[in-house]
Amino acid sequence: MQLIDTHVHLNFADFQLDLDAIAQSWRDVGVVQLVHSCVTPPEFTQIQALSRRFAELYFAVGLHPLDVDQWTDATAAEISALAQSDPKVVAIGETGLDFSRLKIKRNNKLRLRLS
Ligand SMILES: [Zn+2]
Repeated sequence: MQLIDTHVHLNFADFQLDLDAIAQSWRDVGVVQLVHSCVTPPEFTQIQALSRRFAELYFAVGLHPLDVDQWTDATAAEISALAQSDPKVVAIGETGLDFSRLKIKRNNKLRLRLS
């Protein structure tokens, strides 16, 4: 069976020393493609570099719902430009509205999203 892991965060510090071993592990168990999620735009170049390093790694670009207060017009432009220019971008994410974990700033979040 071929597997696709649709949500990984290989750029997190805990994985940096073992990335080649981790890659071998996913190959050993039959994972043939992975989609790396982005939490914030400053990660984009790092994750893009990882997608070049590992052929089976694709990525999403976005801003995590809990970081919505960082949203700017530049964020939207950066996400759009990267999504249209890099063939390894296969999704927009992380993104959305997460009211289950962020009880405050609900109105601000909606205002930012809809403006
Ligand atoms: Zn995630």
